[in-house]
Amino acid sequence: MTEEPLMCAYCVTEPGAGSDVAGLKTRAEKKGNEYIINGQKMWITNGGKANWYFLLARTNPDPKAPTGKAFTGFIVEADSPGVQIGRKEMNMGQRCSDTRGIVFEDVRVPAENVLIGEGAGFKIAMGAFDKTRPPVKCSFSGSGCRRISAEGVDEATKYSLERKTFGRVLAEHQAVSFLLAEMAMKVELARMAYQRAGWEVDSGRRNTYYASIAKAFAGDIANQVASDAVQIFGGNGFNSEYPVEKLMRDAKIYQIYEGTAQIQRLIIAREHFCKYKE
Ligand SMILES: Cc1cc2nc3c(=O)[nH]c(=O)nc-3n(C[C@H](O)[C@H](O)[C@H](O)COP(=O)(O)OP(=O)(O)OC[C@H]3O[C@@H](n4cnc5c(N)ncnc54)[C@H](O)[C@@H]3O)c2cc1C
Repeated sequence: MTEEPLMCAYCVTEPGAGSDVAGLKTRAEKKGNEYIINGQKMWITNGGKANWYFLLARTNPDPKAPTGKAFTGFIVEADSPGVQIGRKEMNMGQRCSDTRGIVFEDVRVPAENVLIGEGAGFKIAMGAFDKTRPPVKCSFSGSGCRRISAEGVDEATKYSLERKTFGRVLAEHQAVSFLLAEMAMKVELARMAYQRAGWEVDSGRRNTYYASIAKAFAGDIANQVASDAVQIFGGNGFNSEYPVEKLMRDAKIYQIYEGTAQIQRLIIAREHFCKYKE
């Protein structure tokens, strides 16, 4: 993928199923040595740029089938007949990112494109998050949440050392310097959170708990720090001539994609209670 280079996308969310992944309706039916896929995916990052998709579809039509066995993960070539790529969505922030809906209509996929095996898809799709949630916080779009937060602190600090009110620079007003101190604390803690999640992987341990803590914490503080940076800029912060309003728009998505802030808390609580039940 890096040599060619090739791009891919992760097709799980649908118009009717985001947080509740088990509610997805895309179906894959086995016919001979291939699967026929029908369904609609939504909010797919890189949807119009990817060479291939990871796609999660229901292969067991029985609604009572256990989630852990009802879904299958496929590799689908983006230029397969029946793949209809929608328009680029106009989003609040991160507008350079290509987000689209994709319709799959009678798309034929060879059985060899099944990942691991039929029924293994839900575990693959969820397992991917242990790897992707921490880096969303550190490296996505440059450096993700932490970049937004660090940039917010940086821009607000520089501004506070130049802008004068009541005869002194903003940084000399204690209320402003304490706000910057709080922002700096949050950035440092977010860095430690994703590094801890990465360290668990390096140590060969499952990192679900730490990945969700990093995701939830860094997503929340990116929004707080970006908003505080706008505050320090005053009226200028509200204006697109200055850098911080974009940071505030870009930050919001970190509380939504890769599992919302609420879903992370569900996972953290579940993992936390597990430790007491062992
Ligand atoms: C820009 C962008 C890029 C994206 N990229 C991708 C991608 O590449 N691939 C992909 O598959 N998806 C992608 N998504 C989809 C994203 O992962 C979902 O939007 C997200 O998981 C939330 O799902 P939803 O939008 O259906 O919201 P819903 O699931 O409808 O949730 C709505 C609200 O209810 C809350 N909520 C839901 N259930 C619970 C609960 N049990 N307890 C408490 N609160 C709850 C949620 O936290 C949220 O606040 C992207 C989305 C966006 C906007």
